[in-house]
Amino acid sequence: MAEAPDTSVNSAWSRLDRVRTPSGANAIAFALLFLCSVAFLFVSYCLARALFGGFGSGIGAIAACVAATAAASIFLWWLVPFADFAEIFWLHLPADRRAREGRCPYCGYPHESRPTCTECGQSTAPLPAWALSARPVKRLACILVPALVVGSIAGEAWCRLDESRFVAESEAARAQRLAFTRPRAFPASFAKLSVDRDGRFDSAPWIEPDRQRDWQPADASRLERGLGWKERADAKSADGR
Ligand SMILES: [Zn+2]
Repeated sequence: MAEAPDTSVNSAWSRLDRVRTPSGANAIAFALLFLCSVAFLFVSYCLARALFGGFGSGIGAIAACVAATAAASIFLWWLVPFADFAEIFWLHLPADRRAREGRCPYCGYPHESRPTCTECGQSTAPLPAWALSARPVKRLACILVPALVVGSIAGEAWCRLDESRFVAESEAARAQRLAFTRPRAFPASFAKLSVDRDGRFDSAPWIEPDRQRDWQPADASRLERGLGWKERADAKSADGR
């Protein structure tokens, strides 16, 4: 009597894995995941740098920006199934199709409801569907960690280049002791780089205009826009009638 086929899921998958998964498929998927992650983390780093503010960056500022970028990488974890791209498209989907068509999951021979394939001798039990496991999580972690390093280095380099450009652009204004400001480079163009009359550089996420919050209009009729203006306007029109 022949030895009972090994029906454990892991050995079934590893036997199929060796035969059917093209080695280049996951390499392409990993490269795309890496590039997407680097782009996202680069933008995150630049935004963190602009939001924290300050011109130039020391170790503390860089550490804070890297921490913020690492926190932003939580939005990349939904990509986890793409780390199993080759297995899903070359193993699980064809195996599901064969199971629906009543064929052996390993060789594709019609098994006609026999428990063992007459062609290859393997079990004809359908293979389990793809499920989230430690493997794609580990793979994505191995992609995100270098992506965080590359994205942060690129973001820091981009911000420093922008700031050194600003120093050059503001030279004429500083020579005349004038204030000068312009937006940061993409993707942080909401923030402003500035230099004041004393030549102090600064960067702020947004410039707060100096408001005098206790200011009141001299003309009392213009107070209408304050709290309750609608009630007062209604009362006034009722009086007028
Ligand atoms: Zn078979």
